[in-house]
Amino acid sequence: MLTDNHGRRFYYLRLSVTDVCNFRCDYCLPDGYQATDNSPHLGTAEISTVVRAFASLGTQKVRLTGGEPSLRADLPEIIAATKATPGIRRVAVTSNGYKLPRVIGQWCDAGLDQLNISIDTLDPAEFADFTGHDCLPRVLRGIEQARALGLEVKVNAMLLQGGADRRLREFLGWLRHTPVTLRFIELMRTGDNREFFASNHIRGDVVERELVRDGWQLVERPRDAGPAREYRHPDYLGRIGFITPYSEDFCDSCNRLRVSAQGRLHLCLFAEHGIDLYPEIAAGDSAALAERIRREIGAKEPSHYLQQEQVGATRNLSMLGG
Ligand code: SAM
Ligand code: SF4
Repeated sequence: MLTDNHGRRFYYLRLSVTDVCNFRCDYCLPDGYQATDNSPHLGTAEISTVVRAFASLGTQKVRLTGGEPSLRADLPEIIAATKATPGIRRVAVTSNGYKLPRVIGQWCDAGLDQLNISIDTLDPAEFADFTGHDCLPRVLRGIEQARALGLEVKVNAMLLQGGADRRLREFLGWLRHTPVTLRFIELMRTGDNREFFASNHIRGDVVERELVRDGWQLVERPRDAGPAREYRHPDYLGRIGFITPYSEDFCDSCNRLRVSAQGRLHLCLFAEHGIDLYPEIAAGDSAALAERIRREIGAKEPSHYLQQEQVGATRNLSMLGG
C-alpha cells in the first residue's frame, strides 16, 4: 500500500480525463473554459497504464473527473478499462450532469459504481444563473435514472453566501423523500477566484451545527473513509455530508492522489506544481510508473496550507479535477 511520510495511505485516485468544461460556474470558470495547456489529453490506453500502476500500489477506488468528463465520447471505454483493472473495486464519475439522461445507461453498462453530480441550487433559474445552462430538470431526471439503475448517487453542493438558508431549506425538502447523499462543500480559494471567495465563502461548521440542533446524527465512518462527515435523520431518506477543507485536521485523513488529464501527478489539490509522469505513461510501462509514483510520494506535504492562503499552482479546479 502506498503510504507517505506522515503515515497516510493512498487507496483512492482522482483521475482527470479532460480539463475542458461546458459550464461557467462562478467559482470555477466564470468566463467559460479557456485553454491554458495545449498538451494532449491521455488516451484510453494511457489512462489504463496509469490505473494499472496505481492499482499495483494498492489503489482500490478511481474517480474520473475533470473539467467535465462527459465531454469525452470515449468515457464509457475509460470506465470499462478502469473497472477491468485487477485491484480496482469501485469506479466513480463526478459530472455536472448536463448529458446525464443520454449517457447514464452506457456508463452503468461499462461498470460504473458511483455517481457524483454537482448541483448548487434546486431553483431552476438560479441554477441557470450559476452555471450558464438552464438544464436543472434534465440533471434531476438523470439522477432519477441513475438511481433506478441501482447506482449510488451523491450530490455535491457548494456552500455560498446569498440565499444559503433558502437553498438549505429547498435541499432539505428534496432529501426528505430522495435517498441520495448531499455533500455540502466549503468553497476553496484558488488562484482565479480570490474576490468571489472573499464575498461568498461560508464555513461548513455553521450549517453543520444548525442541522445537529434539528436532530441530524453523525454517521460513524472508518477513519480511512476520507475527510467527509456524514449525517442522517430518521425523517429523511437522504443523508447530508460536509467537506470542510478549512477545518483544522482536514488533511490528516487524506487518502487520495490526483493525476491531471495531461498525466501530471498532483500530490495535493493545492501543490505548487504537478509532477510530469508522461514519459512513463507514454512508454506504457506501468511497473516503471508505479516505481516513480512511490518515489514521488515522499514529497507530499502534511497540509494543503489553505488556511495560510496558499493556493499553489491551482488557478481553478477544472484544471485538475475537484
Ligand atoms: N465538472 C464536474 C462537476 O462540476 O461535477 C467535475 C469537476 S468539478 C471541478 C468537481 C467538483 O469541484 C464540483 O463539485 C465543484 O463544485 C467543485 N469545485 C469547483 N471549484 C471549487 C472550489 N473553488 N472550491 C470547492 N469546490 C470546488
Ligand atoms: Fe465545470 Fe465543474 Fe468547474 Fe462547474 S465546477 S465550471 S461544471 S468543472
